[in-house]
Amino acid sequence: MDRTPRQRIADLLTLAPMTTQQIAAVVKMSERQVEDHLGHIMKTVARDRSSRFVLHPSECKDCDFVFRDRHRITRPSRCPQCRSELLTDPRYSVVPSALQEN
Ligand SMILES: [Zn+2]
Repeated sequence: MDRTPRQRIADLLTLAPMTTQQIAAVVKMSERQVEDHLGHIMKTVARDRSSRFVLHPSECKDCDFVFRDRHRITRPSRCPQCRSELLTDPRYSVVPSALQEN
């Protein structure tokens, strides 16, 4: 049975946190397409009580600022604290709800 590209991405995210760039390389899509799929996967997982979508936020490499309030799929361009553009890429994963930390 063939998995749709979106299901394949969702499957990948259950294995390890990944950046859009890493996902794009595995499923052979543009990062823009992967971002679009991630948006849909995020909504689907939100309705699924057995798992949840985790956004591992970008961090500034210069001052360690963490972009905790960011819920968009796209990458921030600049640190609001020190103006550095050396930011790590956000990573995404899907984990079982049982592992939810409180
Ligand atoms: Zn910074």
